[in-house]
Amino acid sequence: MQVNWRWIHAARNTYAVLSAACGCDGFPLKPVDTPADDVTCYSLNSINAPEYRDEIATADCRTIAGGPHATACPRKVARYADYVVVGEGEYTLPRLLADLRDGGEGRIPGVRSGDYFKPADTSVLLDAYPAFSEMKGYVEITRGCPHACGYCQTPQIFGHCMRHRSIDEVARFADRHEQSRFVSPNAFAYGSDGRHPRWDKIEHLLRQCRSRIFFGTFPSEVRPEFVCNESLSLVTQYCANTKLHFGAQSGSDAVLAHLRRGHTVADVLRAVDLCREHSLVPVVDFILGLPFESDEDQRATLDLICQVSRNGIVHAHRFIPLPGTPLAGSVARDLLPEAEKILGKLALRGRLTGSWNDPAVRFFRHPSNDIP
Ligand code: SF4
Repeated sequence: MQVNWRWIHAARNTYAVLSAACGCDGFPLKPVDTPADDVTCYSLNSINAPEYRDEIATADCRTIAGGPHATACPRKVARYADYVVVGEGEYTLPRLLADLRDGGEGRIPGVRSGDYFKPADTSVLLDAYPAFSEMKGYVEITRGCPHACGYCQTPQIFGHCMRHRSIDEVARFADRHEQSRFVSPNAFAYGSDGRHPRWDKIEHLLRQCRSRIFFGTFPSEVRPEFVCNESLSLVTQYCANTKLHFGAQSGSDAVLAHLRRGHTVADVLRAVDLCREHSLVPVVDFILGLPFESDEDQRATLDLICQVSRNGIVHAHRFIPLPGTPLAGSVARDLLPEAEKILGKLALRGRLTGSWNDPAVRFFRHPSNDIP
């Protein structure tokens, strides 16, 4: 049975992960730019899903859709895809492919097909699967997040309990290349429950890796309350990055509480100062236009953006209500006239990136969708 993977640039790391997992079970995933026999798999996020809906619905082959969007609204996706993988794919996708190859109907736990659905009966242990194989990917060191930020799909997909790849396995994959970057909801939470840091485990991890390590920066970030002398010393002692990426999201404590972010504005300011003391450039995420943001809240965010931009880089995004999150179905509020001016000026001075006008940019829209 020929199994194809619809190449979508935004899902390139998912391809690296799932082609490794499926390859181990005898299903190499062939990248394609149009659906083809026998089966074509898609990984969809909530921004690009509409772009692929018709293609999937009219495909002449069997189609399997997974990814954050399919997990957030499987019933909707099952109207146009034959099979929907709900949640993690490493175990479920090869199991589904084996069932289809053997003439089954794809009635596998964790797969929706039409009206049939039974929840997954497993949870992926990261060490049980390669981080990547032929195609280099980022090494996923941690999955799951104990927090529940109102706009975020991560805990809905991977749960609230953190699962970590072991130090030996992280080092084994990191050392395959000259430099390595990691995937985690909070790199500074490696080895911990996500609330109580384990600097000893992070140090052990970093000491064991021989390649140039980028930690707490693209494609991962850290939480501001985990930024402290211990964590920053580990970065400057063992890692190659000169930047640290963390989320502030708002300059209003009331908005942060509403979002259930679990940190305050003071935590953000402290993190920015500490970065400067350790000669790291803070790259700080903000979300503008949150539905419950008052004019005053938005002005407080603009103030904080200006403060951060003096010593760091601001990464600004427009709020988008993602399906499957607590804020799904809410409506983004307008930006104040002064917001456009302030953000535009900072962008021109090179102190701000991202897009506060086009929410899609936050979700990895990329001009290049070519198969590498
Ligand atoms: S935004 Fe980060 S900390 Fe918040 S729930 Fe998502 S992954 Fe967790």
